[in-house]
Parts: sequence; structure tokens; C-alpha cells
Amino acid sequence: MRLDQALLLSSELTDVSPTPDIDLELLLCHLLQQPRSYLFTWPEYQLSDAECQQLTELLARRKAGEPVAHIIGQRGFWSFDLAVSSDTLIPRPDTELLVETALQLGLPVDARVADLGTGTGAIALALASEQPYWQLVASDIVTGAVALAERNRQRLGLNNVTLLQGSWFEPHQGGYDLVISNPPYIDEQDPHLAAGDLRFEPKTALVAAEKGLADIRCISEQARSYLQPGGWLLFEHGYEQAPAVRDLLQELGFTVVTTWRDLADHERVTGGRWLNKEEHYADR
Ligand code: GLN
Repeated sequence: MRLDQALLLSSELTDVSPTPDIDLELLLCHLLQQPRSYLFTWPEYQLSDAECQQLTELLARRKAGEPVAHIIGQRGFWSFDLAVSSDTLIPRPDTELLVETALQLGLPVDARVADLGTGTGAIALALASEQPYWQLVASDIVTGAVALAERNRQRLGLNNVTLLQGSWFEPHQGGYDLVISNPPYIDEQDPHLAAGDLRFEPKTALVAAEKGLADIRCISEQARSYLQPGGWLLFEHGYEQAPAVRDLLQELGFTVVTTWRDLADHERVTGGRWLNKEEHYADR
């Protein structure tokens, strides 16, 4: 089979994937260990019998619903590729809004930043790559995720990120200028959980009680003891959750509570500043 013929096989993926062409291109790049440009500059390349056989196997896995990122073991995020595994969420393009927002907060050049529930390390590693003088402490409760994030950190050569294992703030000391998180926020009743790629990702990384707000609440309550006065708390959340997250942060005494919108005009990131230490101790 020629490469240009192989590219037509994306028609086999239309039932399982909203992005059949991209999926097939990524599988072929992985199979041939070539960049995407190769697929279109050498259409007459003849796949060997072994390559045809492997392609059939890769396509079968995708047709069974397995996410492309799990099949090829990596996913592009920000300016790099991250190793992924079934231990944690596959990094989403949506989360780049959270990274962009954090970079625009005007934090000190040597800011101390905590990334809670770091998964592959995506957020912490993107921030570390943009701000070499920031000190990032990223944690996850899942041991396999911490190991994966550490592997990603080493591969990217980012020495300003420390990885720790533990639930939310448990392994952290505090004094942060920014606490950032993409926690689980999907309601357990959400029908999307039973469809598509989400079926292959750990529920613990996706689902939270209280209509998806339980972990955001837990982190927000505790963040008050771990932020410097004036420090920011910043979350990614579902597109309908912004009013509830704003109310929660205001109730807890955060100020400058703000929501940011993605390119589709959805409210996806909300944050606030912790200014008044006294108030926090008073209402405990
Ligand atoms: N945005 C993801 C999704 O809808 C969920 C990520 C999360 O729960 N943190 O698939």
C-alpha cells in the first residue's frame, strides 16, 4: 500500500472519532517515526508488509475507542509533546487557556507556584518553560502520575519544577504566589463520561461530587493557608460552572474574582486573589 492510499483509511474512523483524518495522520507518524510533513511530501512511499500489518493493528485499537494519545503514548501540549498513560488525564487544548491566563497575571519574576493534580505535568511544565525563574511545585495523589510527570520533566530538561506525591495540599509547604489547578470537575451524572475517549481515562481525574464542584471547593478552602497575601488561586472548570466558582471564591473571602473566556467564548477559567489574612483566621 502507498502512503497516499493509507491516508484514505481515515474513512474507517468516522464512527468512532470526530477527527478521523488527524487521528490517522498521528498513527502513521508514530508508525513511520516521521514528522507530519513527511506524510504529504512522499505520497508514493510504499508501506512494507510489516508496516501494513502494524497499521491494521493501530486502526483496530482506535476503532475499539482507545484514544490516539494512549495508542501512540504521547500528546502535544503547549510547545512540546508529553508522555501520557492511563494513570491520568490526557492533556487538553482547553487547558492552554489556564496556562495563558496564569502567564498574564503579572506575577513576580521569581514567583512560587503550586500545580495541584498535575497529571502528566502539563500545566507546571508549560509555565516552567515560559518562566525559567519561577519555582513550581507540582503534585498528584496518583503515584503513577507523579512518575509520568517526572519523566516528562526530565525529558524537557526543566529544573525549576519539583514533583511531589499527595492529595491536594498535603505535600505542600505554602507561601505561594499562585495556586493553579485543573481538578476533576465533571458531574458524575454527565452522559459524556460513557462516550468517546473519556471512557479510557481515570474517573478520579474527571469526576467530582457536588455537581463537579467538590474538589474546587476543597482546594479553595485550603488555598487560603498556602497563598502569600496577594497570591492568586486559578482554576479550569466546566463551561457552565463559572458563576458557582465565582460565588464560592467570594464566599471564602477571595477578592478580584475574575473569569476568563476561551476562543469559543465559554467561561472556562476563574480565579481570585487572597489579600486579607486576618479575615481568613477570623472566620475559622
Ligand atoms: N475538560 C475535560 C473534559 O471535558 C475534563 C477535565 C477535568 O475534569 N479536569 O473532558
